[in-house]
Amino acid sequence: MVKIVRLYSGVTIDLLQPITLSSTSAHYLQNVMRRKKGDKVIVFDGKSGEYEAEIKYMSRGTVTLEPKKKLAEVSRPTDIWVAFTPIKKIGTHFVIEKCTEIGVRKIFPIFTEHSENKNLRIDKWKLNSIEAVEQCGGNFIPEIRENTSLGEFVDNFPEDRKLIFCNEVVKEPNLREIFTKDNFSKACILIGPEGGFSDKEREMLSSRKNVYSVSLGARILRAETAVTVALAVWHSHFST
Ligand code: SAH
Repeated sequence: MVKIVRLYSGVTIDLLQPITLSSTSAHYLQNVMRRKKGDKVIVFDGKSGEYEAEIKYMSRGTVTLEPKKKLAEVSRPTDIWVAFTPIKKIGTHFVIEKCTEIGVRKIFPIFTEHSENKNLRIDKWKLNSIEAVEQCGGNFIPEIRENTSLGEFVDNFPEDRKLIFCNEVVKEPNLREIFTKDNFSKACILIGPEGGFSDKEREMLSSRKNVYSVSLGARILRAETAVTVALAVWHSHFST
């Protein structure tokens, strides 16, 4: 059976309203997946849901689709956010990809004492996220926020949400342990940079009311591994 292609549309989809694909998606459909006029694809916009569409027009670099049938509403993951410190390009791409695949509502890039406030290519990250969602079968794209400092992030953190501070210097409590004791269904996972958090940052975080310092086990994980592990454990407890 031919695998059905799933594509993201940057414009909101309406039934029977033609959609002109971006040149990247048009190229992918024509030259990589070798689809033809009349073939069916799945298209989603991350807002209104997911549709079956027919390829109505195809010429070099231009493809128009017609959404024929709504297949599903947008499937938002349960209410988890991730805040992390982007440092290396590959690690960052990994974080964005895994957050999208496993399921996260919002992603906050933050800068800390052991990182720089670099000019981030958030537009590129959105493309990573779109690619990940196209291939994993989801239809929700996490919101990626602008870069903020750790201090600013914590100052503006909502009171009704718990901040899970993944703290590499503590041995306990373990993440699983806190999840069996309290309800963390509305939470944000905070992961530090490669150089870890500074003592001052640890103190600041520990003095806040809705911040919970946790260990992810005896080993020091790379930031991108730590994000994946923490998210998987969170989902196994609180995903609905
Ligand atoms: N340079 C630091 C390690 C930083 S690891 C050191 O050698 O100590 C990057 C981030 O991943 C950490 O700031 C933390 O948020 C998370 N992390 C990695 N391993 C962890 C663990 N065992 N427990 C809790 N958080 C961890």
